[in-house]
Amino acid sequence: MKTDMHYFGVYALARAAGMREKAAEIVATASEYVDGAIWDKEVFLKDGRSILSEMTAHRMLDFKNADREDQRRVWLPFHFLPGAEGETPTDKLLCRKNSRIAKTMVRRNTAIAAEAPYGLYLMGITAHVYADTFAHYGFMGANHSYNAIRAGSIDLQVSDEGIFQYIKNKADGFINKLISYGLSQTIPLGHGAATTYPDRPYLRWSYARDTDGKTVERENPKDYLAGCRAMHEMFQAYLDKAPRQGESGAGRKWKDIRKSVKKILELEGDKQARVRAWKEAIRDNRLFGGSTRVPQYKGHKWSASIDDLEPEKIPKDIDKLPVYRFYQAARIHRAHVLSNLLPPNDVIAA
Ligand SMILES: [Zn+2]
Repeated sequence: MKTDMHYFGVYALARAAGMREKAAEIVATASEYVDGAIWDKEVFLKDGRSILSEMTAHRMLDFKNADREDQRRVWLPFHFLPGAEGETPTDKLLCRKNSRIAKTMVRRNTAIAAEAPYGLYLMGITAHVYADTFAHYGFMGANHSYNAIRAGSIDLQVSDEGIFQYIKNKADGFINKLISYGLSQTIPLGHGAATTYPDRPYLRWSYARDTDGKTVERENPKDYLAGCRAMHEMFQAYLDKAPRQGESGAGRKWKDIRKSVKKILELEGDKQARVRAWKEAIRDNRLFGGSTRVPQYKGHKWSASIDDLEPEKIPKDIDKLPVYRFYQAARIHRAHVLSNLLPPNDVIAA
């Protein structure tokens, strides 16, 4: 999923669940920032205080993608939550849409978020991981032959010829980059072999899995709509526990916004067009009540704030620094998923 969903979609759905403006902005920024926190950095102060960053993403074509340690730290807990279903260890590692594990993660993170000072950041991270299960299911956040797709088997169904060519060119560019980096086109990490198809909300497509030749039909609009509904419900559950983050008059019932959300998701367009569709729906009051302002994404400021940290510039109240809150939340989420949630469900990844 891309900014259209991880930032604008999450902002709109949190507001539609009844969240106040500033809180929803933090949640949406943290959700998008899961794709932006690509640095391993430690800042140590002369007075003994320190901040340790948490890496939650890689640039897709980073060589580190092939690093097993990073697959465990980054891909499994943040982008391809294992579903723990099926018989074999391989089955259990596959990401599954709205799995029992995903629901357990949502319940647990929501309860912590209602109490913790980094709660809104944790809700953003949770929204990212939860949403990804609706796009990345059937793939594994590890380098495994199960992720490979049979050559030439991908079929795309798009009605707009221009968009069809656009997607094709993007996919060719993606594959050429892999080849220019000396990596195989069939690199089986995550949905690498499917290039960016799972990230396009409007796309209907199919492919044959290389391991068993089985054809898999994908209807992204249906999956994304189910994901939006699940997130709306998750934010409502959070606000029940943390009513201080709510705003009266903002909330709408799912059935009242479903049609508008569906229309946005089905728009065949590039990322800018899809972002525009979310913004227009927000400005026209089609998704929630109250202020129709659409806040800009400010994640780059979060990065700059830690990049600019010099010992003498660190504020006394470090814990007010958004990026610090994000790292706290990311650490809790990762540790919980890898140590508490997965092992009792027979997924040993840490
Ligand atoms: Zn992701």
